[in-house]
Amino acid sequence: MAYRDQWVTCEKCGKNFVFRVEDQRRQASMGFDVELPARCADCVEVVELGPGLRQGVVKWYNDEKHFGFIVQRDGSEVFFHRSNFLGENPAEVLKDNTPVWYELQSSDRGPTAVNVHLRE
Ligand SMILES: [Zn+2]
Repeated sequence: MAYRDQWVTCEKCGKNFVFRVEDQRRQASMGFDVELPARCADCVEVVELGPGLRQGVVKWYNDEKHFGFIVQRDGSEVFFHRSNFLGENPAEVLKDNTPVWYELQSSDRGPTAVNVHLRE
């Protein structure tokens, strides 16, 4: 697929912004379907804190510390604890760049990923 910069109008604030080739490549390299974002960077957080299953990839997971981080579709990172991984042998399967599904939940320390499971 050929990537090119594309203008997008934010559905929330109506601002025009560029969906850059670098962002499209990054999404593709992470195993995502490349889709036009509906909202600009200023408004996307509202969406990201909504309910529902999201696609991400494991940035790293440390089985001794019992936690790790997931890279979200927008490139930001979110914390997850082993207790929120739905599966066996997290030390074995949660390698760097492993595609996962997760849901976001707010906590005292900010958003955290819950219901983390492998994306086949
Ligand atoms: Zn906006």
